[in-house]
Amino acid sequence: MSVLVKITIITSGCFIAINSKPVFTTALPQQTKASSFLPYDLFGAINTLKKELNAVVLAHYYQDPDIQDVADYLGDSLGLSQQAASTSADVIVFAGVHFMAETAKILNPDKLVLLPDLDAGCSLADSCPPEEFAKFKAAYPDHLVVSYINCSAEIKAMSDIICTSSNAVRIVNQIPEDQPIIFAPDRNLGRYVMEQTGRDLLLWQGSCIVHETFSEKKIIQLKIEHPEAEVIAHPECEPPVLRHASYIGSTTALLKYAQTSPASTFIVATEPGIIHQMQKQTPNKRFIPAPAMNNCACNECPYMRLNTLEKLYLAMKNRQPEITMPEHIRVAALRPIERMLEMSV
Ligand code: SF4
Repeated sequence: MSVLVKITIITSGCFIAINSKPVFTTALPQQTKASSFLPYDLFGAINTLKKELNAVVLAHYYQDPDIQDVADYLGDSLGLSQQAASTSADVIVFAGVHFMAETAKILNPDKLVLLPDLDAGCSLADSCPPEEFAKFKAAYPDHLVVSYINCSAEIKAMSDIICTSSNAVRIVNQIPEDQPIIFAPDRNLGRYVMEQTGRDLLLWQGSCIVHETFSEKKIIQLKIEHPEAEVIAHPECEPPVLRHASYIGSTTALLKYAQTSPASTFIVATEPGIIHQMQKQTPNKRFIPAPAMNNCACNECPYMRLNTLEKLYLAMKNRQPEITMPEHIRVAALRPIERMLEMSV
């Protein structure tokens, strides 16, 4: 049995389908068999599919503005996991990166969880390989493991409590003072939590390529050019950048701060996708993305940007790529996430 593979080319709002030579279905990966036709009105088509599938689209603030506009819920890692834990939808379309969609699957084993692009990974999650972390953890058997949610399901399964940048300080403050703690995988967030709590944490030396790319020198230059501007930063940034920040917080906290601060101009040291919401909430304020060290767009997360509106539509249409994981990993990873949700109320 054979099928025709169809290639879709978008030209000024219409498409042309080109049939290739027949190929055998048994030799094709699942993805190749999927439909790649795109409708003219993607927003409308996504909204129709939401109803047909009883699907919810959860999107992170670092996503492309079009995806943010089509999402049912927009948030940071904490808000998105809370939404994933409480949704009654049958299908969760996660417009974010792999570890976020995994978290949704861990919380919802019976639901179909889709990620528009399976390659949407995370440099921070990748900086903590499970085998090496298992050895590290084994060397400190008396330590409690608090892991930032930006890690793989395997690392979550080895953790005692998960945290996000919204609740990391609050969670560490709830742990008895005489309890030694390993904090993984982000050394910058870990350092920030140490400063805020006065606790001595044993840090795994992972980091995010995006938040380590901001140039202190260029931020100082921007401050000179815009003396009225406030620098606001995510705690995944390195200490030389955080030193210049009037306010440090999670993406949700930065959004709230930009709304309530009397300042009219902000230099934003986190992934610039968030500026879409900042500008929507306060159109009369000015938001300047903190520049990267090189003259590149490296302050944009290359993983988050792999998701597009087209891929999101196709994921819903084809019910793939789907997030799956071994059940023993899911069950082990669930407990520390539930502890986080209990400790964040
Ligand atoms: S911004 Fe950094 S931490 Fe967030 S998904 Fe991208 S690489 Fe990972």
